[in-house]
Amino acid sequence: MRALVLSDIHANIAALDAVLADAPSVDEVWALGDVVGYGPEPDAVVDRLRELGALGVCGNHDAAALGGDEIESFNIDARRAMEWTRAVIADTTKAWLATLPERLVRDDWTLVHGSPRDPIWEYITSTPVARAAMSDLETRHGLHGHTHVPIGYLEDDGVLGTMSPGAGSVLELGGRRGLLNPGSVGQPRDGIPTASWLVLDTRSGTAVWRRTAYDVASVQAAMEAVGLPSRLVERLALGL
Ligand code: ZN
Repeated sequence: MRALVLSDIHANIAALDAVLADAPSVDEVWALGDVVGYGPEPDAVVDRLRELGALGVCGNHDAAALGGDEIESFNIDARRAMEWTRAVIADTTKAWLATLPERLVRDDWTLVHGSPRDPIWEYITSTPVARAAMSDLETRHGLHGHTHVPIGYLEDDGVLGTMSPGAGSVLELGGRRGLLNPGSVGQPRDGIPTASWLVLDTRSGTAVWRRTAYDVASVQAAMEAVGLPSRLVERLALGL
């Protein structure tokens, strides 16, 4: 099957729609959590994912939007944005977010937001953490988000390698196990402001990372119009 893998959309409908316009036809759309939070249009993003029949897992921002105490661990800007999100989201948005499991298995792939052992919160930011995460996987491969940085961890005969994919990077897993991060659609943090995502062929084990430009200024204007924190507005243009 061919899947469009999206993570950390963060209520950025302009970025999501640009990605969907750029994406090939796929069998399924997978969302790796943090659908809401930070951005100005949480309802529009959830409506779009619902229209697409997207499958997803729960991120820390999604859990916080439902009233979870995850908000206590947020920094001041994330907390302000989450308080705004909680106040404005529709009941239909809450209902869809409430259906998201912490883990989802499709074919040989486990989908989580953070990591297999701590699906909501753990950041996989180093090879040792990735190695531990892969030993916790109950499937051959995994997909995660949360760091907002695209990366691939590849295990071959017990040796773990990494790749830092750029736009158009193709990974052929072959016999290797993979733990892949598509990067963030709605708030990339690798210094590149374009939306980051990937297309996965689960049968051949081929992943292609892609980047899509979108109208960042329009999103910044929408954020300012509803009073979201200026540091969150500014970072979108920097990809940080
Ligand atoms: Zn996130």
